[in-house]
Amino acid sequence: MNAAAPSPAPLTGERVLQGVGVSSGIAIGFAEFVGQVLEEPELSSISKEGVESEYARLSVALEVTKAQILELQKLLGDDGSAPSHSTIFESHALLLEDPMVIDEVKRKTAEELKCIDWVYYQTIRGYIDQLRKVDDAYLRERAVDLEDVAARLLKNLRAGDKAGADTTPIQRAWAGETVLLGHDLSPSDTAGIDRSRVRGFATEVGSATSHTAILARSLNLPAVVALHELPQDSYTGAPVIIDGYEGRVILNPTQSTLRAYAKRAAVEEKRLEKLSDLKTAETRTKDGDRVLLSANLEFATEIATLKELNADGVGLFRTEFLFLCDGDSRSEECQYKTYRTIAEGAGDHGVIIRTLDIGGDKLLPELRLDPEPNPFLGWRGIRLTLDEHELFRSQLRAILRASAHGKVRVMFPFISTLEELQAAKACFARAQEELVAEGVPFDKKVEIGAMIEIPSSVFIADHLAKEVDFFSIGTNDLIQYTTAVDRVNDRVAHLYQPMHPAVIEMIRTTVDAAHRNGIWCGICGEAAADLEMAPLWVGLGVDELSVGLGQLLKLRAALAALSGEPCRKLVEDLRQKAGKAEEVRQLCLQVAQGAYPDLLISGAADRK
Ligand code: PEP
Ligand code: MG
Repeated sequence: MNAAAPSPAPLTGERVLQGVGVSSGIAIGFAEFVGQVLEEPELSSISKEGVESEYARLSVALEVTKAQILELQKLLGDDGSAPSHSTIFESHALLLEDPMVIDEVKRKTAEELKCIDWVYYQTIRGYIDQLRKVDDAYLRERAVDLEDVAARLLKNLRAGDKAGADTTPIQRAWAGETVLLGHDLSPSDTAGIDRSRVRGFATEVGSATSHTAILARSLNLPAVVALHELPQDSYTGAPVIIDGYEGRVILNPTQSTLRAYAKRAAVEEKRLEKLSDLKTAETRTKDGDRVLLSANLEFATEIATLKELNADGVGLFRTEFLFLCDGDSRSEECQYKTYRTIAEGAGDHGVIIRTLDIGGDKLLPELRLDPEPNPFLGWRGIRLTLDEHELFRSQLRAILRASAHGKVRVMFPFISTLEELQAAKACFARAQEELVAEGVPFDKKVEIGAMIEIPSSVFIADHLAKEVDFFSIGTNDLIQYTTAVDRVNDRVAHLYQPMHPAVIEMIRTTVDAAHRNGIWCGICGEAAADLEMAPLWVGLGVDELSVGLGQLLKLRAALAALSGEPCRKLVEDLRQKAGKAEEVRQLCLQVAQGAYPDLLISGAADRK
């Protein structure tokens, strides 16, 4: 966005919000609010005489809401760049005025003598719940629209007379460059972001290791989460800066703030340019020891960048996003084509394809009609695929078929028992037998790996190691299960400590068990890219680090500055001296700062 284009909004002035930066970079664009939150209003009783005034409140709120929706439709449709968004708002207007709903709400208000906000909420909630249960994906998606419209209306009901003044969108020339603001974005919302116009996003909730944040880094979209409260409609269409380095969001910035940020963005760009000399280099420590540095991929389209950065193949291909993005890409044939594209582009080191890890914060609505009380402790990863035979079978067949076109390894997520790993291997062997019987070519020596991301698997690592060719440590989950801290809950985010001594000990135990049993061990969680932790990975003798493409060059530069000796000493010191995460951090920092001080000065988002 041209820094000089927008003029400051006279209504509100500049407003700075502090959150947590989870994907570095600076984005400047115009605000678009997504996903209004539908909250249950307070229940209050009314008298018979009060019914008419409740009806009047509803009709004012309906009018204001409709005006807002039309305004948004105009803003988004004006430049012709986003017709689909303008159609969304057209359907929102229709949902808002649905006479069946309005009649039902009015009738119930008169019968039950409850405030109209509460009756409206209960009525709409009922429709949303019904829509969520239907088989048809299109109708299920309408639940989101209905929720959006209802949340907007309820807000206007609450605001009463002030609604119109409070929520008039600021008129802006719509330049097409957008930043998304909202309560939350699901991983599938994030995967579906229109990259041609969206420059970044910020949300009220969220955390650094949620899959939404991981995707933001993959997509190179600056992102800030955990803002707690975003002012809503009054900033629709206003210019916004997302500072992913410092975790800041600046609404309606002044010209001088815009200039300062344009400068900052230029400095960062220069810093990245310096790293580009490393694009063709191999990854080695200062002693010349080779470290495999591969990439975590969520989309096949990232393959070109992987080659550009000379990554050692794909250390983790998260197949969930094929399933979350669109129903068609789940067929065996489509999966095969995607895996084949990646296998062909991944080079000699090949690709590690992780079987479906649905569950936790990645939900596939048709597989889970009722929400689980503890989704991260529930029906997830290998537990789900071992139950869903056909789903697993088609994925394993697709992976095997792709192995005829490049080096492919398969990896099973969320292993907590030896039985699960053996059962998964048996399914894999059956898929192999099928393909042999059908005469379909595949690599008979596809290596099998287990993700180590649950404490129980760490303690049986010697047994698991005898079943597989490699381990890959999923620190994102290992941290949450070791410390009992939900990785997507920002209220306990301060307790989510990658450097907790117990986590380091888990990693050491796993690496040692792998080596004792003659297999290799990598790390593919976000901690692999943490520049403060890089000395630990060298000291522990981790064989492979797999990181997001955006973090790869910085890590290569850091590793090139590290020698084995101080890193091994660090690991020994930690065991004796560090009982707290902060003590681990200080000891790691001493080594890191001695080796690559310049790389450590970016904001917190780079350390994730
Ligand atoms: C992990 O848990 O560290 C990991 C790499 O997998 P995911 O983030 O997809 O759970
Ligand atoms: Mg995981």
